[in-house]
Amino acid sequence: MTAAPRHCTIVPPFVLDRLAEQGHEAARRSLALDTLHRESRLATVLPGAAPAHELSRTIGDARHSRRLPGRTVRTEGGPVSADTTVNRAYDGLGATFALFEEVYGRHSIDGAWLPLDATVHYGRDYDNAFWDGSRMVFGDGDGVIFVDFTSCVDVIGHELAHGVTQYTAGLDYQGQSGALNESLSDVFGSLVKQYALGQHAEQADWLIGAGLLAPGVHGVALRSMKDPGTAYDDERLGKDPQPAHMDDYVDTVQDNGGVHINSGIPNHAFYLVATALRGPAWECAGQIWYDTVTAGGLAHGADFATFARATVTAARRRFDATAADTVTAAWSEVGISTA
Ligand SMILES: [Zn+2]
Repeated sequence: MTAAPRHCTIVPPFVLDRLAEQGHEAARRSLALDTLHRESRLATVLPGAAPAHELSRTIGDARHSRRLPGRTVRTEGGPVSADTTVNRAYDGLGATFALFEEVYGRHSIDGAWLPLDATVHYGRDYDNAFWDGSRMVFGDGDGVIFVDFTSCVDVIGHELAHGVTQYTAGLDYQGQSGALNESLSDVFGSLVKQYALGQHAEQADWLIGAGLLAPGVHGVALRSMKDPGTAYDDERLGKDPQPAHMDDYVDTVQDNGGVHINSGIPNHAFYLVATALRGPAWECAGQIWYDTVTAGGLAHGADFATFARATVTAARRRFDATAADTVTAAWSEVGISTA
């Protein structure tokens, strides 16, 4: 059973909203397009032949139109493109596949060898990237606020991880369960990057979208798992609104109840677990989170405390009481009791 596909964008609506209010034309058009996508349920589920038991990627080029999937420009094992955007998308899909396959033994994001497809050069100056339930779609950015959305492998991992959540825990994209959905994408997005770079928890930057902000924007990324709320502070973008503790939880009706905002709290809990356990974050911390999402039994509307308790159980089941205590302590540090 799978939850309904969601249209999940990497740049939250409140960021584009603010830019649009200041008269930023590309942001206004990107926002209008995102609203259209959400309402039209763009996702198409193709019946297709039984998938091969291997990685299968196809990259399309929309050539600045809004037609999907666009002209096919690179296929699995085919020649490298002259277009670096095409190759970055191809490599990012491969890096995400590698983390799930090699570390967790998951065959593609659905666990059943779903082909990984993407479309690049979507729209004109489109300031976003999204997973539409069946493919990844990347804008080129406007070059003023955002650059090419294929630039960050963690952004690609983030979007595809929405697919993993869609096929497993199916967390509702609203309120705390929505913030957990967002957080899981940041967690696995960051792990895709760390695994590709061979970094240990203490070496990683724990940023989401480092390198996505255009030169001149005051910020380092879209989000920071290490220090939520510090990723950017810019005249045009505003200030990163993420809390790191339940005391600063943001009650809002915007952004599906602040799914991109309050995700800072579980994000930081994961960072604390990973750095306390040391070594490669995908091995212990990542395994605990992966087990939690795939074990079944987590309600679609699970809140932070329910999810936190499930991670403690997963840590004890997979590892030992010491690992479970580490997880408990991390949640406690962000203001969530697992008692
Ligand atoms: Zn997301």
